[in-house]
Amino acid sequence: MAKYGACLDKIAIPMSTIREQLEALEDETLAPQAARSRASKGRLRQETPDPIRPNFQRDRDRVIHSKAFRRLKHKTQVFFAPEGDHYRTRLTHTLEVSQIARSIAKVLRLNEELTEAIALGHDLGHPPFGHAGERVIDKLVPGGFSHHEQSLRIVDVLENDRQGLNLSWEVRDGIARHSKGKHGLPVGAPPEHRASTIEGQIARVADIIAYVNHDIDDAVRAGVLDTRDLPQSAVAVLGGSSSQRINSMVTDVVTETLGGALTEIRMSDLVLQATLELREFLFRAVYENPRATAEFDKAAGLLGGLWDKLRQKPDQFLDQATIESEGLDAAVRDFLAGMTDRYAVALFEDLFVPRSWSV
Ligand code: MG
Repeated sequence: MAKYGACLDKIAIPMSTIREQLEALEDETLAPQAARSRASKGRLRQETPDPIRPNFQRDRDRVIHSKAFRRLKHKTQVFFAPEGDHYRTRLTHTLEVSQIARSIAKVLRLNEELTEAIALGHDLGHPPFGHAGERVIDKLVPGGFSHHEQSLRIVDVLENDRQGLNLSWEVRDGIARHSKGKHGLPVGAPPEHRASTIEGQIARVADIIAYVNHDIDDAVRAGVLDTRDLPQSAVAVLGGSSSQRINSMVTDVVTETLGGALTEIRMSDLVLQATLELREFLFRAVYENPRATAEFDKAAGLLGGLWDKLRQKPDQFLDQATIESEGLDAAVRDFLAGMTDRYAVALFEDLFVPRSWSV
């Protein structure tokens, strides 16, 4: 077989050779437990393989080029529409998750592209106004709402003019099972709540490592927290700065997982407990702090108002195909959950706030 890219200018090598060589490279370089691009369980609809990119790499690219991915830029992580330039948004959160997940996958010789595709896609379905928005929409939608289900719906159905992104099974599985919540475990979840691939498990633990640390950083930036308030027992284990804590957690995940022969993603009890302690502290001190969440009460009223108003004007705003196939509730949910914070505010103003007359 010709070497990768050799003689491209002289003869027409079948381009599929490049993908096949990259797939073969996975066999040579990845750990036996890693997911293999060519062994994917496939897509919802069969497609001709890409001539140069293996499956998971192609999936990663599709996520980045999606509209839902770009909207993450204007969705809240913790602080609503922060004026400072250095606060996280849902997009920069996603990028930090992806960085941490890839670091872990690379050193464990697992499939980096699969890990990255899952990490970049995990929050695509997050509604406006962060966790507060999710709680509100969960109450509004009959049958409830969760962002990880909506992320899967976006990649399967809504993106690409309702064609979906047609991602590989392994990426969809990782996105659907990344959810963590207040009581979810970063590692050691029961099999039914755990991604089927070890790469999907990495995305889940990376999500928690990312948000626990960057949300502390943003809360300090916002004056909601003082680092001296952090539980000292957790600081003693993990370190005093964000970078020290991320490093402690990532190193622990890598060494514990290798120690367990890569059967699943692991953390030591000591680091896991310290991480959970920090997360519980964050819920108390930041996510449920009345000062940090004051604006979100207004967001709840805004989303509730839009929920009612949009139902009265289905022809104007909602996707008719969804109304016909799945009903009005599904169509309003999709529209509401897809909004950025600023779009929701602008639409509310448009629909509820009288405009001054101008000639
Ligand atoms: Mg996340």
